[in-house]
Amino acid sequence: MNDPLITTVEGLPQPLAAFVSPEEKKYIEEIKRRGGLPFAVTQHFASLARPLKDDPIRRQFFPDPAEALPDSFGLDDPLGEHLYNAAPRLVHQYKDRALLLACGACFGYCRYCFRRMWLAGGLPFINTDDESAKLRPAELRSAILRPAILPPILAYLCSHPEINEILVSGGDPLTAGNDRLGKLFAALRRARPAILLRVCTRAPVTNPARLCEETIAMFRQYRPLRVVIHLNHPRELSVPCRERLAACAASGIPVLVQTVLLRGINDDPAVLAELIENCLDLKLIPYYLFQLDLAPGTRHFRVPLEQGLAVYRDLEKMFGRPGAAAGFGPGPDLDRKLPVYAVDLPGGGGKIRLHDGVIAGRRTTAAGQVYLLRDSNGKLWEYPEN
Ligand SMILES: *Cc1c(COP(=O)(O)O)cnc(C)c1O
Ligand code: SF4
Repeated sequence: MNDPLITTVEGLPQPLAAFVSPEEKKYIEEIKRRGGLPFAVTQHFASLARPLKDDPIRRQFFPDPAEALPDSFGLDDPLGEHLYNAAPRLVHQYKDRALLLACGACFGYCRYCFRRMWLAGGLPFINTDDESAKLRPAELRSAILRPAILPPILAYLCSHPEINEILVSGGDPLTAGNDRLGKLFAALRRARPAILLRVCTRAPVTNPARLCEETIAMFRQYRPLRVVIHLNHPRELSVPCRERLAACAASGIPVLVQTVLLRGINDDPAVLAELIENCLDLKLIPYYLFQLDLAPGTRHFRVPLEQGLAVYRDLEKMFGRPGAAAGFGPGPDLDRKLPVYAVDLPGGGGKIRLHDGVIAGRRTTAAGQVYLLRDSNGKLWEYPEN
């Protein structure tokens, strides 16, 4: 049921393959030689792309030579997750919820991915001294947590009863089969019978067949469980994608939607409004709209913060403002219409909501002009102006 990945220009559908420029070909060769976030896309996702340079689907998966341009703000660990490493592959940053990097593979790679350095296999992602946290080449393909790594994770969850939700993320955990995924869920359930499972995936978009009836039934077996999907553009909602997401939501598994704000892809209120309306029609719950994290080589995707705020103001006019408590912690407001616009503060400051009052000032740094963003404790954090 796993859609085979296309990893070469020749493997792309004909019109897309013919459209690739010599510079792009050269850059793909360079990634193969030097290492880096691999070029890989599912047949399904590639079939949604059009042979145009600025096509919003193509740009998400097709390597752009602009990735190699210098980026003074680029951070290998943009969210500072190593600061909150609780056990290998476990990030505990917020009191009542923790994040498990269950797997290191995806159904194709998003070029703006904030975990690109980890997924590229170059970084011992969490816990720099710990070899077990480093992705091995075999894990990049088959990729779910080796059972040997699980005991310290379960022990940590048992000794921290304040954690009442675990995000199962990666990579994309659905790249593992239901068998192995079910075993992971069962182990988490055994350790903490009432914990809320949050499965973070892009599979419904990139490989909708993966969200088959059997998978939905497995999710139901491990309730309470929510699915959070990564969805950026209305054109990602293909017929099979809509059909599978609607089936999942109708089965009683809440499906939340996270969107990354991307330059030239969805940085337009009309595009985002269409996306949100589509989600509401399918009974999906808009959750977050993320300002881009500062992963190296993603600068060409970054929407200037001022522009992002203007886009969001327009959306608020159309949909109303989400409730003050929305977006943080378990039990998001399931009736909301608008995602919460947020950024994960570079360097480990955590998520904050973005609104006009968040900018406390400006500063010139060695890397360039930055805004100072004020978090809820009054602490100031830097984020590039553009
Ligand atoms: C985003 C995130 C969470 C979940 O935060 P929510 O606001 O509940 O979506 C938990 N842990 C880490 C480390 C995160 O980055
Ligand atoms: S699916 Fe998620 S983890 Fe995988 S490449 Fe895309 S953004 Fe990164």
